Amino acid sequence: MRIILLGPPGAGKGTLASSLRDILNIQHISTGDILREEMKKGTKTGLKIQRLVENGQLVPDEIVTDIIKQRITGPKQKSQGFLFDGFPRTVKQAEDLDAILNKAGEPLDYALYLKATLPIIIRRLTGRLVCKKCGGLFHKYNKPPAKEGICDACNGPLYQRADDNEETIKKRMTVYLENTKPIIDYYEKQGKLIALDADRESEDLEKDLMKILNDATSKHHKH
Ligand code: AMP
Repeated sequence: MRIILLGPPGAGKGTLASSLRDILNIQHISTGDILREEMKKGTKTGLKIQRLVENGQLVPDEIVTDIIKQRITGPKQKSQGFLFDGFPRTVKQAEDLDAILNKAGEPLDYALYLKATLPIIIRRLTGRLVCKKCGGLFHKYNKPPAKEGICDACNGPLYQRADDNEETIKKRMTVYLENTKPIIDYYEKQGKLIALDADRESEDLEKDLMKILNDATSKHHKH
């Protein structure tokens, strides 16, 4: 299955992506994670990316689309399918993705749209903790780790992202509304959009989604 996750920062894309990866056995590709890896390397491109990311701005389309191209053309992705988290973030990226996938004869199946409201988003992001080693996600209050500052899964150190402060979150929301929200229409027109209420707990959202995907798949097989 080929899926993308859409929605504002803090809607729960990363959390849902890691469950779906295990349930559907597909590759999870997060452009945010890939860009943060690039930042760590301290290359010229890495430094340029860092300035933008830490400011809540988008990285240029060419850089992001190049990264994506390298990841989806391998034989493993072709057979397993994939799940994009945080990509596309502009209509240009969505069009480029369609062009790449359609050329390969492997079009996108679904665009999952996680809808969440601002107070929930701010609470989630200001408390978010990320494992430096495995990328595991925790929350200071909603999902605290068993040992403070340590990842339950791999014992790696937990940290708060530099862009998860209230000021940068507001900037990321503005960028989202201007650049990313129009993509919702783009996929709606293609009949690929599945909208979900993401203010809920992740378990409820996940159950709801699995039911929708099962129904959609069985309908597809019947026709
Ligand atoms: P995320 O981890 O998805 O919240 O992404 C963190 C930051 O990485 C974003 O605020 C952007 O600065 C950058 N970023 C991630 N994905 C993209 C993308 N598809 N296009 C442009 N910038 C991106």
